[in-house]
Amino acid sequence: MTASGLGALPSKLPWVGTTIFTVMSKLAAETGAINLSQGFPGFDCSPELVGLVERYLKSGFNQYAPMTGVPALREALAEKTGQLYNIHYHPETEVTVTSGATEALFAAVTAVVRPGDEVLVFEPAYDSYVPAIELNGGIPVFITLTPPTYAIDWEAVRGKITDRTRLILVNTPHNPTGRVWTADDLSQLAALVQHRDIWIVSDEVYEHIRFDGRPHRSLATHPVLQERTFVCGSFGKTFHITGWKVGYCLAPKELTTEFRKIHQYLTFSTVTPIQHALADYLQNPAHYETLPDFYERKRDLFLGSIRGSRFHFQPTEGSFFQTVSYEAMTDEPDYELAVRLTREIGVASIPVSVFYHQKDDYKRLRFCFAKDDETLLRAGERLSRL
Ligand code: PMP
Ligand code: GLN
Repeated sequence: MTASGLGALPSKLPWVGTTIFTVMSKLAAETGAINLSQGFPGFDCSPELVGLVERYLKSGFNQYAPMTGVPALREALAEKTGQLYNIHYHPETEVTVTSGATEALFAAVTAVVRPGDEVLVFEPAYDSYVPAIELNGGIPVFITLTPPTYAIDWEAVRGKITDRTRLILVNTPHNPTGRVWTADDLSQLAALVQHRDIWIVSDEVYEHIRFDGRPHRSLATHPVLQERTFVCGSFGKTFHITGWKVGYCLAPKELTTEFRKIHQYLTFSTVTPIQHALADYLQNPAHYETLPDFYERKRDLFLGSIRGSRFHFQPTEGSFFQTVSYEAMTDEPDYELAVRLTREIGVASIPVSVFYHQKDDYKRLRFCFAKDDETLLRAGERLSRL
């Protein structure tokens, strides 16, 4: 208690500390380690995109953007989604630009979840999902996916659905496992939710990063799913601009109406000159069409560099993350190993247990391979010495 009698502020998220991404990036910086932990590109975005932002910055596009997003960007997103997936969102009523996918996810969860609602979460799960559910009074119900395949047991999912299930959170391509949903996954989910008041938030920030010819199966490509899904995306992953924090939400009109009620009081609108620049940049599909090959080559370069090591792995299906098993090497807890490898061999990673609510430890580390070739080879060389 303070002198004036003020008590301690009761935490709304008592179990939450600083995110592992911040912890490991800080440790990597302090120790001078190669940072393959937090997911962000180690190279710059295109000078053309920077030039576009500069042009808009210098020509007076510096005040609030419209609450829903700059029209040209909403139109470009609607057009791209139509061309790629043959799904048609109306730019005026069904596309909203947000301050990163993080905001889109939070606003979508908030639009749906009320106290006592159950929300199905596949784990390992990206770290912002559960706090968003809990801050809205929702109850996360976990479906645990396990290595090596992380495939979904749809019977187990069926068993978790109750009258209180209100939302299902999906992420494809998946962080941290890289798993990409199949057409069968979509059909299975559609069969489960059909005729029920269950909505879906689909985190598709890695839509353009999937490998070996796999298509991205947006949940919106299935009609039963489309009518109940908030698709959340991010320009950060696609254009190497994670620091700009611009994302979006695509959802049918009725869902978007509720989504925007939250968005307008969370952030109101998103950085203006960058939205204009992205609208122009999106006109050239080559910027995202080449991304699968770009990252597949990096994945293969990194995996080639650790092929002779004692790590075991299946090449990741999507995202810019590779998980590896170290079971053949040591039985140390994954968190301890990640810290030790950062300090001792100078390579930082993320322990996969942090993505499980009970910190299940399957002896796996996650490496981000969105780095320049030389960095990946140096890291691989160090990891192969173990
Ligand atoms: N979802 C997933 C699965 C992510 O990996 C990330 C970012 N790393 C986000 C959402 C957040 O995206 P943004 O940076 O656009 O907020
Ligand atoms: N999504 C990134 C990752 O998984 C990190 C984003 C963040 O630091 N919040 O590494």
